[in-house]
Amino acid sequence: MYGILGKTLAVAVLSVLASLAISFAFVPMLGGRVAGAGLVMTIACPIAISIPASFLHFYQSEKLHLAHAALGRTTRELADAYARLQEQARRDALTGVLNRAAFMAGLDAEARAGTHGGLLFLDIDHFKAINDRFGHAAGDAALARVGALLSSLARDADLVGRLGGEEFGLFLREASPERMLDHSQAIREAVEAIDLRAPDGTPVALGISIGAFHCPPRFAPAEALAAADRNLYRAKAMGRNTVVA
Ligand code: GH3
Ligand code: MG
Ligand code: MG
Repeated sequence: MYGILGKTLAVAVLSVLASLAISFAFVPMLGGRVAGAGLVMTIACPIAISIPASFLHFYQSEKLHLAHAALGRTTRELADAYARLQEQARRDALTGVLNRAAFMAGLDAEARAGTHGGLLFLDIDHFKAINDRFGHAAGDAALARVGALLSSLARDADLVGRLGGEEFGLFLREASPERMLDHSQAIREAVEAIDLRAPDGTPVALGISIGAFHCPPRFAPAEALAAADRNLYRAKAMGRNTVVA
């Protein structure tokens, strides 16, 4: 407000000076003299006109400036919210890893880009029994812990997704068959070591079976996943808590 008043006052002073200059330049040319009531009007008129006009102008442009800044902030907030929502739509709410659709889209993109890598199909062992014995909440906690573990062991470029129920998918980008196997064993051991407790303190033992398939460049995602799934089936048949590649 002080800024607006200051600018209004400056305009009033300039208007009076301009009015005086014009009067002193032209009135004598017309044969008159700037004095008395004429001088008062030369000073009073620009004050009476410029103060309300410039105050209104500066007040409106200040309001416009504030509205513009608020609009900029709102636009940025909306863009952030949109980006967050887009990311949320790609994630599984319980585990934080990619949902099935986003995982498959990522796998498609890797296949199209000509990337090779290790594809793992992972399934928690006897999960139904965990739900039955310790309750659905303990089952959810187990899923969240396994999801967090898979994410923490993965590299940034890898894809970690929940394919459904207690099944996860992992694409180890550009991993050799050896690294794929080492990583699978590391996951299996880490899942076994998860210290999960039921609400009454009883330890909840976890195991995971992993079917692995090494994808060559330009692999077919659906076929690669089916191959990993067949190896998972073998791992289950071999007694679970094991890796088959
Ligand atoms: P297997 O060792 O052969 O894999 O047996 P399993 O019991 O792990 O597999 P099964 O397919 O028989 O059971 C999977 C269970 O997972 C059944 C379903 O109720 C449960 N489940 C699926 N989604 C969720 C979930 O989001 N939370 C919880 N707590 N349970 C879930
Ligand atoms: Mg299953
Ligand atoms: Mg299972």
